[in-house]
Amino acid sequence: MALDVPPGYRSLKEADVSSYLAGVPAVATKLGGSVTDWKVREVGDGNLNLVFIVEGPSGGVVLKQALPYVRLVGESWPLPVRRAFFEHQALAAESKAAPRHVPRIFHFDETLALTVMAYLTPHIILRKGLIRGIVYPKLADHMATFLAETLFATSDLGQPAAAKKKHMALFCDNIELCRITEDLVFTDPWRIAEANRWTSPQLDAAAAAVRSDGPWKRAAQEFKLKFMGEAQALIHGDLHSGSIMVTEDETYAIDPEFAFYGPMGFDVGALIGNLYLAYFSQSGHETWPGERDGYRDWILRTIETVWTLFDQRFRALWNKAHGGDTFMPALFATASEQAALQAAQDAYMRRLFVDALGFGGCKMTRRILGLAHVEDMESIADPDRRAECEKQALRLARVLMVEGSRFDGIGAANEAARAVRRETAKVPA
Ligand code: ADP
Ligand code: MG
Repeated sequence: MALDVPPGYRSLKEADVSSYLAGVPAVATKLGGSVTDWKVREVGDGNLNLVFIVEGPSGGVVLKQALPYVRLVGESWPLPVRRAFFEHQALAAESKAAPRHVPRIFHFDETLALTVMAYLTPHIILRKGLIRGIVYPKLADHMATFLAETLFATSDLGQPAAAKKKHMALFCDNIELCRITEDLVFTDPWRIAEANRWTSPQLDAAAAAVRSDGPWKRAAQEFKLKFMGEAQALIHGDLHSGSIMVTEDETYAIDPEFAFYGPMGFDVGALIGNLYLAYFSQSGHETWPGERDGYRDWILRTIETVWTLFDQRFRALWNKAHGGDTFMPALFATASEQAALQAAQDAYMRRLFVDALGFGGCKMTRRILGLAHVEDMESIADPDRRAECEKQALRLARVLMVEGSRFDGIGAANEAARAVRRETAKVPA
């Protein structure tokens, strides 16, 4: 099959990387020494792209290059390399809004569809830390900041209409990546699809039940409508725990190639949903029942803090850093106008909360029944144990999607997660 690449595109091999970077002065300076001193290794563990780590005497960089097909599947599934352009644009916008949580960019090459950015070390992918049971005391605080700052800045509260429309026009073309989400997250788990897979035979009945569950299907399609129709802000579009790199002190969001103007709840929900997946996977990583009780509590506290701080910071930005053409502060001067503004903010945050829960549920479902699974579950070797964790996660996912509006706050959602464990695993949750 002919792969669609711009003239001049070639995919780099380890041996090509150093000579390419030698031609990029900003990067050569960062690495220090000369080309022969640079060590290159390909480390891409993601689903789509090549990632090279390059280390020189004075520092390291990461070179990420888009391949013209889905790496996980192969050349039979072509995917435009132009996604690197959207990733670069999104990184630029995110670093303006939340510079402490986005890797620094040194270079972008549109023809080769590659970005050179800061090498985050000794940071690891959050998902791997969650599997090992590592506590990240600042994670919730940092991610709440990242979410509030990036989403607010690109919303109609944070930027003027003309700027937003121009920015949106750039991202409207990210059709293929959006299409992946539309199919894989919102549709395939609820129908028979070739790419679907699940722990079988343990989950066969559960998967069949999902495919004939009217209210659940309806919820999935309503969230899909929202995803496709509500251009609230520039969203990262893939903010799961595999797109976050952490140490105890620092938190970075990477890999925004799915970015477009969509519903904010999708980003908040991606994080929350993946934390719930981590929560339910913990029993699969215990050497004795209850070993990870304290860690489970920390995950739920993290979910609660992410939402609570996000809510506070988003409102604070609305009140103090307003820059958009809606809800202009001058309209709300008197006490009664202020009360009306407060009510509008409450309603806005409430909708966002219900969206986040629902989108989180969609993301959880697809990781159990769809094409791409998560290591949290996949690394549980015993299929019976894994299936137990996955069934619990599926149950919560349905509740979040179908009944999200009955939760009066994040504490109630966490209580539902605990209840699922109590009911199905017969353990104190
Ligand atoms: P993909 O889009 O193919 O999923 P990612 O951007 O997620 O690619 O990167 C794949 C992997 O490369 C990450 O899981 C991480 O291990 C590593 N990586 C990516 N960017 C960096 C970085 N800036 N610093 C260190 N490691 C990185
Ligand atoms: Mg990616």
